[in-house]
Amino acid sequence: MPNASKPQRIIPIQPLFTSEPKVYPRSVKGLFQRWRWVFVWLTQLVFYGLCWLPWNGRQAVLFDLDARRFYVFDFVLWPQDTIYLAVLLVLSALALFLFTTVAGRVWCGYTCPQTVYTELFLWIEKRVEGDRAKRIKLDAAPWTPRKLAIKGTKHLLWLVVALWTGFTFVGYFTPVRELADASLNLSLSGWETFWVLFYGGATYGNAGFMREQMCKYICPYAQFQFVMFDPDTLIVAYDEARGEPRGGRSKKLAAREQSLGDCIDCTMCVQVCPTGIDIRHGLQLECIGCAACIDVCDQVMDQMNYPRGLIRYSTENAVKQGASRATILRRTLRPRVLIYSAVFLGLLTATVWSLATRVPLKVDVQRDRAALASEAADGSIENTFRLQLINASEQSRIYRVSVAGLDGIRLAERVEVNVAAASTGAATVRVRVEPGTTASGSHPIRFTVADAADAAIAVSEEAKFWIP
Ligand code: SF4
Ligand code: SF4
Repeated sequence: MPNASKPQRIIPIQPLFTSEPKVYPRSVKGLFQRWRWVFVWLTQLVFYGLCWLPWNGRQAVLFDLDARRFYVFDFVLWPQDTIYLAVLLVLSALALFLFTTVAGRVWCGYTCPQTVYTELFLWIEKRVEGDRAKRIKLDAAPWTPRKLAIKGTKHLLWLVVALWTGFTFVGYFTPVRELADASLNLSLSGWETFWVLFYGGATYGNAGFMREQMCKYICPYAQFQFVMFDPDTLIVAYDEARGEPRGGRSKKLAAREQSLGDCIDCTMCVQVCPTGIDIRHGLQLECIGCAACIDVCDQVMDQMNYPRGLIRYSTENAVKQGASRATILRRTLRPRVLIYSAVFLGLLTATVWSLATRVPLKVDVQRDRAALASEAADGSIENTFRLQLINASEQSRIYRVSVAGLDGIRLAERVEVNVAAASTGAATVRVRVEPGTTASGSHPIRFTVADAADAAIAVSEEAKFWIP
C-alpha cells in the first residue's frame, strides 16, 4: 500500500518512438550536394550495373547459393573460403571505425543505401510534387482527382525504382539474364518472387516513408557511432561564437554594429535538413553529416556579403579554439587513428597477398576407414586413402598425385584425376612401403597434387601411414 503521507516519486515513461511531423526538405544546391549526387551515381552504377557485367563467360559477380559457389571476377570461392568473408566483415568494421573516427558520419551522409535511396526517392517526389512549399500545400489539401493523379504518379515511379532494386538484388544470387527472361515470361520461382518483392518493398518503405526515422530509431550504427567520436573528429558544426546572437538585421549596417552575430535566423539550414533538425543546437544524434545545411548557409552568407563557413565541416576542438584547416589536418594523425590505420592496412595487405597467391586447388585427404593397413600382392604394406579435390579455377584440369615422407614410399599405380572447371573430383590412392624399412606405428607422409600442365598449381597435404 502506498504511504499516503509520503509523496510518491513519479518516474516519467520515455517512449521509444514518438510520432513526429513529416519532414519536407527544401532543395539545395552547392558543393556538398554535388558530391552527394556523385556518390549516388557511383554507388548505383555499381549496384545496378555490376550484375550485368560478363566475365569469363558468366556473370562477373554471382553468389550461387544452390551450387555453394561465389564468383567474384576471377575468383571462384567455395564454402572452404569462408575465411575471406569473415576477413571482409572485419575489414568493413575496421574501415567504419577508422572513417568514423576521422570524418564522423561521412558514410551516412554520402554512401549509406538509406541516404542514397532517400535522395533518389526525394528527387522523384520533388519532380512530381514540386519543392517544399508545394509539397506541404499538396499534403494539406483535400483529396481531388489532381492530387490523386500527382500522388499516384509519384508512387508509381517509386514502385518502378523499388522493384528494379529488388530485381537487381536477386540478380546477384540468380544469373541476372535468366532472371530477366523468367520475369518477362512470368515464370519466376517462389523464392525469387519473394525476395524481389521483399527487397523492393523494403526500399519503397524505407526510402519513401521511413526516411530519417530509420536513422533515428532503427540504424544501430547511428546509436553507437558517437563512441568512436572524439573532439578531433570531423563534424558538421555551427560556429556559435560567430553566429550568436542571431536575428534579423539591416543589410546597410555591419552585424557587429547591430550587436548581432552572423546568423540571420533565416532557418534555411533547418528547412534543407533531411532529418529536420536545427544544427545550431549543436551536434545531435540525428545529424547524418550530409552538409546540406553548409551549402545553404554558404549561399545565405554570400547574399549577406559575410564570409562563408558559419556552418562548416570542422571539429569540436577546432570550433572552440578557432583552429585552422592545417591544425585540423595535423590532428588527424592522432594515436587512435594511427592504430586503426595500421591494423586496417596490415589486414588489407595480408588479404590482398593471400588472394593474389591463392592456389585454385583444394585437397582433402581421408584414410580408408575399413582397414588401417593391408599386405599387397607384392608383399609390401599398403594403406588406402581417398583424396577429394576442388578445382577452384575456371578451366578443366588434370591433376597428378605423388607421395613422399618415408623411405621407398610409392603409389601402387599412377594417379591422374581430371576435374572439370569449378567442380570437385575424387580419387582412391593406394600407397605402399616395403616391409622392414620403417618401424611399426603411425608415420607422417605428404601427398602432393599438382596440375599436369602447370606446376605452380600444386597443393601438399599431410596424412599418416600406418605400419602394423
Ligand atoms: S542558414 Fe545560416 S544564417 Fe540562416 S539560420 Fe541557418 S545558420 Fe543562421
Ligand atoms: S544538420 Fe546539416 S549535416 Fe546534419 S543532417 Fe541536417 S542538413 Fe545534414
